[in-house]
This record gives sequence, structure tokens and C-alpha cells, in this order.
Amino acid sequence: MIRLTTILILAFPMLSTADDRLPQPDYHRQPGDPEWLASVVQFHGHLGPAVVAGARIGMIGLHAVEAKGYFDVEVTCEGPMAKPPQACFLDGVQVATGATMGKRSLHWVQADQILVRVKNTRTGRIVDVRPTPALMELLAAFKPQVKAEAGHGPGSKADDEHLAAVARKIAAMPDKDVASVRWWREGE
Ligand SMILES: [Zn+2]
Repeated sequence: MIRLTTILILAFPMLSTADDRLPQPDYHRQPGDPEWLASVVQFHGHLGPAVVAGARIGMIGLHAVEAKGYFDVEVTCEGPMAKPPQACFLDGVQVATGATMGKRSLHWVQADQILVRVKNTRTGRIVDVRPTPALMELLAAFKPQVKAEAGHGPGSKADDEHLAAVARKIAAMPDKDVASVRWWREGE
């Protein structure tokens, strides 16, 4: 009887802590990292250029239409995002705008060029956000040599560090260097 009690006390806390823990990404916050970066990595699982670019462009679009996010936005992403790492962009947009797969408020359309259209569903205001050539250069820089065959996920340490460095550069760029914006309303 004594033995059974001991087992229950020891085992129960172990089970409960194992079950209510989110997955832990390999991310160590650096002094220059903006606060939102941890949320992006928590959602997506790694610190990469495309997911951070999606987050930056999503935030720019959300603020441009003066939406709060989550329930007052409809977002359409156009671009070559059929698979990772390019598709990682979509996760950044979801974290930044709160428009998600689950709410059916995030849409993706295959296209050659990246364009993120954010609509404030309360006001009808719409903005088209396009990455600048400077951002596209950073996004293209890692494609040829990194994970071309492996696809996605943790790669070699050198590759991962390189990707994280490019991602941090994108995270720190001023808005005007990240994207250009154009406002319009439906019917215009
Ligand atoms: Zn990714």
C-alpha cells in the first residue's frame, strides 16, 4: 500500500508536465531580437528568412489598414509558396495578422510574384503589400546552396546559423526597406 501511494505521487506530476508543454523550438533570444520574433519561432518551429519576411509583411499590412488582427482581417497571399522553404512565409503572415487556416481567413494563390493583400473587414479598407527588391534579394540569397535537396527543417549547424542570421537581418530592416504598400477600396 505504501509502495502504491509513492508511485502515484511520483508519476502523476511527471505525466501532467509532459502533456501540457508546447513543442520547444531551437531558438535562443539575442539582445537585438524584437519581442515578436519568439512568437513567430514558437509557431513555426525554426528561425528562417521566409517566415520572418511573412511576419514583417503581415504586420505592415495589418497596421496599414488599421486592423486589430484575428477577427477583423481577410488575408490573401500570392506567390510561389507551394512548399517550404518559400511556403514558410505563410506561417509568418498568420502569426502577424491573426488571419489563419483555422478561421478560413487566410488564403493562398499560386503566382510568380509575392503579394499580400490585407482587408479590414470592418472598414472595407484593403492594402496590397509587396516585398521590396532588397527583401527579395535576401530571400533569394539562401535558396541555391541551402537545403536545396533536403527541403526543410533542421539542416547542418552552419546552414541553420546562416539562415538565422539572414532572418535577423530581415527582422531588423526598416518598414520602407521591407515592403511597398498600396491602399484601395473594393469597387475602386
Ligand atoms: Zn520554415
